[in-house]
Amino acid sequence: MLPSQPTRPQPYRAYRLPAFLLSAMLLAAVGVATVWGLREFASSSQWVEHSYQVLGEIEATVAATRTVESSARGYRLTDRSTLHAEYLTSIPGALSSAGRLVALTADNPPQNHLARDLERKVRARLTEIDRLVELHSRDPAQARIDAQTSKGYEQMRELTALAQVMRERERALLAARHARSEHRASLLTALVVLGIGLAMVLLALLMYSLWRENRRSRELERETRQALIDLEASASERHLLTERHRSLSHYAGLLQSCQNLQEAMDMTAHLIADLIPSIGGRCYILRASQNLAETAARFGEEKIVSADLLHPNDCWALRRGQLQQVQGDRGAVRCNHLEPARGGDDPRWNLCVPLMAQNTSLGLLCLSGEQPPQDADLLLIQSIAEQLSQAIVNLQLRETLRVQSLRDPLTGLFNRRYLEENLQRELLRCQRRKLPLSVLMLDIDHFKRFNDTHGHAAGDALLARVGQVLHDLVRNEDIACRYGGEEFTIVLPETDAATALKRAEQIRAAIGSTTILHLRQTFGPATCSIGLATSQDDRETPQQLLQIADAALYRAKGEGRDRVVDGNRALATA
Ligand code: GH3
Ligand code: MG
Ligand code: MG
Repeated sequence: MLPSQPTRPQPYRAYRLPAFLLSAMLLAAVGVATVWGLREFASSSQWVEHSYQVLGEIEATVAATRTVESSARGYRLTDRSTLHAEYLTSIPGALSSAGRLVALTADNPPQNHLARDLERKVRARLTEIDRLVELHSRDPAQARIDAQTSKGYEQMRELTALAQVMRERERALLAARHARSEHRASLLTALVVLGIGLAMVLLALLMYSLWRENRRSRELERETRQALIDLEASASERHLLTERHRSLSHYAGLLQSCQNLQEAMDMTAHLIADLIPSIGGRCYILRASQNLAETAARFGEEKIVSADLLHPNDCWALRRGQLQQVQGDRGAVRCNHLEPARGGDDPRWNLCVPLMAQNTSLGLLCLSGEQPPQDADLLLIQSIAEQLSQAIVNLQLRETLRVQSLRDPLTGLFNRRYLEENLQRELLRCQRRKLPLSVLMLDIDHFKRFNDTHGHAAGDALLARVGQVLHDLVRNEDIACRYGGEEFTIVLPETDAATALKRAEQIRAAIGSTTILHLRQTFGPATCSIGLATSQDDRETPQQLLQIADAALYRAKGEGRDRVVDGNRALATA
């Protein structure tokens, strides 16, 4: 079976490419932002380090100046040459620190301005120290006096105050740089987290959509595979059905050509065995008396044995006029004509299909197998049963018509047509075998008068009674016919004239002693006259024999009726 559902729409498919591009762009933006942030971070770090360098250089400048000042004072107080040497070596350090500070603050004009001022103050302070050291070398007393009046202390205070201002500015700068760096780091972190988060969400949605599509394609593939399998199965099923249909049509045609019930039953058994080899069973035909069904044909291997003869009451299908299906001990009650169930999990299955037409039972199909039949098999069996039932009706009808066409309905004896067909055959047979054949022609005496006296219906009753007497007295191989009106013909094969004469006398006596009861009135007995003819040689024809017998009858009438006249003897004496 092909998948009936249309392909489900994929609502996310249209957004898949934009989502992919957006997540790629987001990831790229996150990458760019990270690089930019790292560069910014490195630059901020440089500036922070620069500020620390400036601060360090301020400290170094003040410390170097103090070193120059303390070593100069020590020298002036102690005159120790090591202190003088230390004084001389520390001067370049102070100057170079001040110079580096100016260079370091070149990027910051206000701070640079202060640095230059500081450098000037350092130089001024060093100049003053140098003057006092020089004076001490020349005139220590004067140097001590100058030292007391020197503005060295003022210079140093201004210098340290200026250094303090620079320090505070640089620290403020450092704090601002720290704050900006932290702000950028937070911003960058937020951007990266947001960008990566969004990109991850988009990628997750993308993955979900792809997973759904993948799952859907697997489903479709599975459905397609199943559909192919179903298609193949339905194709082979269709092929099987076509074959069965063809066989059924052929069977229906053959049924119509069947000459008798046995042929129809054999053909049905053959068809079922051919089309459903897994089941076995038999076909029953119900006797005309409707009191017994007998096995007419068997097919396959019967898994549940059924009786050869069954009474209709033994079969639920025949009783109810419906299918009766039983598996093991379950469901419906098993029919009496079947062998009993084994009990437990007996898997065997049985099906009885009544053969019926116009509410009349005609027979039965009894089937059994190891496994329950498929629906198609059941339909087939039902179809066969219907066709077979119709065929049985047709055959029975045909038989009835055939009998009716050969028999006289009033007397039940054969009619004149049958006589003519069979007298010829019987005569030839006897002539071939050199055997005699006798013919009796019988006519009721004064039948017209009987009719006139008692009525036509009473005449009919008398004719029927005569028919009954003849039927009872002749042998199976004899042919008793109503020749027409109240005339009868009896053909006695292999019977010579003497025997025929005796039989004729018997018949005459039987009719002569028979009364009839009609409408509560008794009539008769009636007498009859009989003419006899026996074949003498092999040249006689049926017509000649009948003529001789008829002539003998005529003679019997003429001689006074109620007698038998042998036509051959009459001819001989004539
Ligand atoms: P006979 O002794 O010479 O034979 O006299 P008969 O009256 O029997 O002779 P006939 O052949 O003239 O009469 C035959 C009568 O039989 C005439 C007809 O009305 C009657 N008949 C013929 N067929 C039937 C029938 O089927 N039923 C009845 N009730 N009468 C019939
Ligand atoms: Mg007559
Ligand atoms: Mg008569």
